Amino acid sequence: MEEQKFKLTIELVPSMVWFSSIYKLYKRNNQLNKWRKIKKELFEKEGRKCWICGAENTRLEAHEFWEYDDKNHIQKLVAIHHLCSMCHKIKHIGFWCYTEDGRRQLKKEGLSREDLINHFCKVNNCSREEFEKHEEEAFRIWRERSKYEWKQDFGEYDPNR
Ligand SMILES: [Zn+2]
Ligand SMILES: [Zn+2]
Repeated sequence: MEEQKFKLTIELVPSMVWFSSIYKLYKRNNQLNKWRKIKKELFEKEGRKCWICGAENTRLEAHEFWEYDDKNHIQKLVAIHHLCSMCHKIKHIGFWCYTEDGRRQLKKEGLSREDLINHFCKVNNCSREEFEKHEEEAFRIWRERSKYEWKQDFGEYDPNR
C-alpha cells in the first residue's frame, strides 16, 4: 500500500464485501437506533462539516473506514466519519464512475467524472496526473483484494458487543 500522502483518497471495497456494511447490518438486525446514535455523536464530536475537506452547509453522509489485513483477509471497521457528498463519491469512485447504475445517478445529480477529479485535485492540492496515478493504484489493490473472500470485523461497532 502506498504511503498516504493525500488527505482525500480512493478506498475501494473488495467486490465480495461490496454490499456489506455496518449500516446494513444494523438495519437487518432492526437496530437502526444504533446507527442514529453514531450519527448524532459524530455531529456532537465533529460538527456539521465534512471530516475531510471541511465543507459546511452541505448534505453529510456517514462513511465507513475499513482497514485491510491482507495476510488473513480480514476487513476491519475502524472508524465512521461524516463526509460531504463529493468526498464520499471519491471514496466510492468505482461505483460512481465504473458502474452503469452509478454513472446514471451521477448524471442525474448534474455531475460528471470531471467534477469528481477536480474536487480530488482541489482538496489534495495535486495535479490530474497524480489523481490518475492514485486511481490506478487503488484499482490495482482492489483487483488483488477482490480475489479473496473477506471476513468482516466490525470492531467497536459490532452489534453483539
Ligand atoms: Zn468533503
Ligand atoms: Zn462510504
